[in-house]
Amino acid sequence: MNILETDGERLLVAVRTLLERKGIVSTAEVMERMAITDAASPGQGARMVARAWVDPKYRDLMLEDGAKAAEALGIPMRGMPPLGVLENTAEVHNLVVCTLCSCYPRAVLGYPPFWYKSAAFRARAIRDPRELLASEWKTVVPDTIKLRVVDSTADYRWMVLPMRPPGTDGWDEARLTAIVREGDMIGVTVPAV
Ligand code: FE
Repeated sequence: MNILETDGERLLVAVRTLLERKGIVSTAEVMERMAITDAASPGQGARMVARAWVDPKYRDLMLEDGAKAAEALGIPMRGMPPLGVLENTAEVHNLVVCTLCSCYPRAVLGYPPFWYKSAAFRARAIRDPRELLASEWKTVVPDTIKLRVVDSTADYRWMVLPMRPPGTDGWDEARLTAIVREGDMIGVTVPAV
């Protein structure tokens, strides 16, 4: 009996076997990367956001080199594509999409949610992002604020540094971390208290 059920699974095994035979990547390295990706979750990105809110130096580092900023908090980035960070301000709101497939900042957010991979999200994010955010997420970005849609690719991943919401003065990092949701770091929602 063949335990590989689908074409996709057979293709995966074939590619992995080839990479190992050619000495490009070892089984141990593949297993390590899978374990790191499995362990990644939006809580990691949330820690980065909260740190940036309380520490201007960390914010500067994050905007300059997202991967370095992630590593500074102990998030493993070895072997991952570069990570860019887009800062939301009073003038500009950022939205991340992979128009081609599902490229996602997995190292800091974990696996992409189902909607991120959907053809509908990918098309509407380009065609009418303002309408998409308002109708699907109730995130209203007024016309006075520039809405920038950034394409995440296999070579370069993006996350959003959202604005710190009002009413959080004096909050410590742990409390701030707890209010940052996955969607806030993709730009479909904004943090609120
Ligand atoms: Fe992709």
